[in-house]
Amino acid sequence: PCSGADKLRIRRRNSSSASPTPRTIFSGIQPTGIPHLGNYLGALRQWVKLQDEATPDTTLLYSLVDLHAITVRQDPNQLRQWKKESLAMLLAIGLDPNRSIIFHQSDVPAHAELMWILSCQASTGYLGRMTQWKDKTASAKENSEKLKLGLLSYPVLQAADVLVHRATHVPVGHDQAQHLEFAREVASGFNHVYGQDVLIQPETLISPAKRVMSLTDPAAKMSKSHPNARSRILLTDSTETIQSKIKAAVTDSIEGITYDPSSRPGVSNLIDIIYHTNDTSDYASQDELARDLASLSMRSLKTRTADAIDRVLEPIRARYSSLIGDESTLIDLAHTGAVRASDSASGTVARVRKAMGLS
Ligand code: ATP
Repeated sequence: PCSGADKLRIRRRNSSSASPTPRTIFSGIQPTGIPHLGNYLGALRQWVKLQDEATPDTTLLYSLVDLHAITVRQDPNQLRQWKKESLAMLLAIGLDPNRSIIFHQSDVPAHAELMWILSCQASTGYLGRMTQWKDKTASAKENSEKLKLGLLSYPVLQAADVLVHRATHVPVGHDQAQHLEFAREVASGFNHVYGQDVLIQPETLISPAKRVMSLTDPAAKMSKSHPNARSRILLTDSTETIQSKIKAAVTDSIEGITYDPSSRPGVSNLIDIIYHTNDTSDYASQDELARDLASLSMRSLKTRTADAIDRVLEPIRARYSSLIGDESTLIDLAHTGAVRASDSASGTVARVRKAMGLS
């Protein structure tokens, strides 16, 4: 019996990145809406696990990356609201502000300062070859000239986020691994010019939890920005909403339940969700779980899935609803997080400035 689902794989790229102790863990999420089940299973749950398993000398920093959010135009009032909701949600999922530094990225100007400095090292050719940028230029087609500079330099800001806190370990989803590699290369290029160990090359912690797919289009990942709100389960969804979204989830008309993501993406997504939401799973793999579910009707599979999600979200919902009304606590926590994160960043900026002759 085991669930390898939560185990994090540490990818060591080369011997020069052997992890120094103590560890510093950094990760971020855009405050562009209430996080969904994909964010939780793919990222946020690992943040809490890393916090709960951390030794006392580990520093944990989790940021609401609002400067990344503005690479697409945001309504100011909406963004303000999302920032508040996202902060409440990070606390509701179990991040402890006494243990983890939780902060809004734009409250710590060192992120933007280091980003500018790194922009002067980063090559536009390299940035132009990033998969996410290529996807955006391809989908913008003839309008690609109108794409904003901030979108091209998005990975430079991500590199600054990580490097400014001297992060040694960065938990990311598979989609972000390329950007982390960029951060490592920028750090190594900078150190080559300005002196070893000015910046630290972080290691990537890749979560093995599979991508959670959209409920309405299981070929695409579940995402905050998809126009169809029924494509995702929000962490605040009620039992009834979860049931109705799962009931309407796109599956297929093949009889019996089998796990085959390429030919049965909808059904396999539901099996993945049951597998990953069951922390005490008795199944070693999704295939094994699927064999146990084989004789269920589609309707029963959906009921099982909705129940599994609801069990995980019920306590999160309860904590969130009490936190979101407590405005003064949220303001205090954001302030404390900003002060602690500014402290964490100041040493790196001073080193970088000195190394470059800026001070
Ligand atoms: P957007 O739709 O605006 O791009 P998003 O839902 O992709 O937002 P991000 O803020 O970009 O969310 O990502 C936060 C974290 O959640 C990242 O580590 C990312 O890898 C992870 N993540 C996002 N979507 C999924 C998903 N469907 N399954 C698993 N992990 C996900």
